[in-house]
Amino acid sequence: MKDTFKHKGLRQQLVNVLKNKGIKNEAVLKAIGNIPRHLFMDSSFLDHAYQDKAFPIAAEQTISQPYTVAFQSELLSIDKGDKILEIGTGSGYQTAVLCELGAKVYSIERQNELFKKTSKFLPKLGYRAKKLIFGDGYIGLKEEAPFDGIIVTAGAPFVPKPLLSQLKIGGKLVIPVGSDVQVMTMFTRKGPKAFEQEEFGQFRFVPLLEDKN
Ligand code: SAH
Repeated sequence: MKDTFKHKGLRQQLVNVLKNKGIKNEAVLKAIGNIPRHLFMDSSFLDHAYQDKAFPIAAEQTISQPYTVAFQSELLSIDKGDKILEIGTGSGYQTAVLCELGAKVYSIERQNELFKKTSKFLPKLGYRAKKLIFGDGYIGLKEEAPFDGIIVTAGAPFVPKPLLSQLKIGGKLVIPVGSDVQVMTMFTRKGPKAFEQEEFGQFRFVPLLEDKN
């Protein structure tokens, strides 16, 4: 597991690409600049790790595009110590960004193979989530609720109710909603039953699937 000057240079270029695409949050840009994304990818894609693109990982899933990771992280506007729930651990790259931002991270993955692989891998890089869970993100994580933020990293055909109810007042749910194409949607909890809804354009994710596998 090597991180070289060449990788650091490529990463800085990626940070500049993201700035040019409109990412402004310095902490998010710094996180992307710190995390060795190439180590989260299969060896056949190593040369492409610092392109702003999604790539295949195990179990027919993808590591999200850096711009998407940055965009969703920026929307969450995380403060150090915030309790954040991630749905779709996947490669753990987004998890690492949340850790870099100082969040207490809980992350759920439904694919056992990915869950096991990423659970072993993240601590090796020094990223310690509070809890990585093998389970179904549609139901959230009631026992650890409420959360300051919830981020869904797969395309949700509808907004799962438990995720809304597991937000603190003032908390945010960032979720791509739709089947073929998704609209990035943010819900801010204004009161026990009041939510503000904002939309941020189209993205493409692998689907949020029912049940564990
Ligand atoms: N955050 C990841 C993105 C991975 S792609 C990364 O940065 O690499 C989306 C992930 O969501 C996949 O790993 C997929 O297995 C997972 N997923 C899909 N449906 C899910 C569900 N219902 N609960 C939890 N995880 C789910």
